[in-house]
Amino acid sequence: MTTSLMAMGIALFAVLNLVLGLAAISMLFGTFETLFGKPKLTILRTQKPGNHFALGFKWNSAKEPAAIDTLRLRLFNPFGSPTQAEVMQKLETQRSSFALEVDMGPGLLGLLGAKGFDKATVQVELSSTRDGVVFQFDMSGPKFRNLVMKSSETVPSFIKRHKLDVKSVSKPPIDVPIRSFIADTVPGKGPMLKLATNPMFAGEFAGAPAAGAAGAPAAALPTFTVAKVWIEPGCIVCNACEDIYPEVFEVLADTCIIRPGAPLDNGLRIQESAEACPVEVIKFTKAS
Ligand code: SF4
Repeated sequence: MTTSLMAMGIALFAVLNLVLGLAAISMLFGTFETLFGKPKLTILRTQKPGNHFALGFKWNSAKEPAAIDTLRLRLFNPFGSPTQAEVMQKLETQRSSFALEVDMGPGLLGLLGAKGFDKATVQVELSSTRDGVVFQFDMSGPKFRNLVMKSSETVPSFIKRHKLDVKSVSKPPIDVPIRSFIADTVPGKGPMLKLATNPMFAGEFAGAPAAGAAGAPAAALPTFTVAKVWIEPGCIVCNACEDIYPEVFEVLADTCIIRPGAPLDNGLRIQESAEACPVEVIKFTKAS
């Protein structure tokens, strides 16, 4: 009796140990996955002069297959100038972890030299157009600049350390122009934004109620009549103009047109559309 009780006790102890052991292994793997399985961006020190940006990117391509083909650097700078900026580069498709030197074009220096950069946020985005997979990494402006300038690792050392098979990138850069509009800081008011949605400044934007109407601020800018409005080549069909003034702008499959008989008496709203156009192809002349 005593012997069988002891045997049962030993068996129970062994089973308990087995369960605890399996739980520990599972936790260990979970922690390992959390710590080391996540996509990881490393900003590297470029070895080329000018507009080059170097990065290493590791992710579990077996678990999350993606053909990475686009790199974007975005600046969110609400209290500086420009308030937003983006530079983009198409990459030769990468299907597993890689490291690259990328010519981002002159927009990179404009982004790094933005006024108020120390309070800005920079987002590095790697994406796959075909798979719709997007990896985004946000960091403060100073941290980004510090890594770009002082990273101890280069592309060759990253490739060697991680034993990567890396292709080169040779495509020319595609720049998205730097824009600064709508969200300008207000002089003397500190971190207050001049947004169309801020009732304090509503009168300065085209959608505001007419002067004298209920809710219209006293200092609304007077509008003006436009003699001619037209679209120059280069429209990227982003819809911004039509969203602002659909009575004037019509966005087609591959360009934007001015609607026949479009009203030209609200120049302020046409001006707002032109300022919102990311490629600055909306032109107009004021009526004299
Ligand atoms: S805002 Fe400019 S780029 Fe966008 S649809 Fe209008 S004209 Fe084209």
